[in-house]
Amino acid sequence: MSLTLREIQEVIRNAYFHRDYARGLWRTLLWLVEELGELVSVINKEKPREQIEEELADVLAWLVSVANLLEIDLEKAFIKKYREDVENYFKSQKRVK
Ligand SMILES: [Mg+2]
Repeated sequence: MSLTLREIQEVIRNAYFHRDYARGLWRTLLWLVEELGELVSVINKEKPREQIEEELADVLAWLVSVANLLEIDLEKAFIKKYREDVENYFKSQKRVK
């Protein structure tokens, strides 16, 4: 199974937007910071890789929730900000094939 960033954002919107909206932007941002803290903690404590993966997934989910509340398409924003890197990636992919 694979998902684009846009699909991840839709998954999180479908599952959590109601709760995110009720919680509000600032409290959702605090949750994102909390999850970043958890990620730092599991890495710092050299916890098993599976726990690090879970915390990374949490950070992504909360980041996407923030983007949803701000009505920002994160995939679009990423491509806009990192266009040159994205273009280099696609060029290198063509070279390999
Ligand atoms: Mg967590």
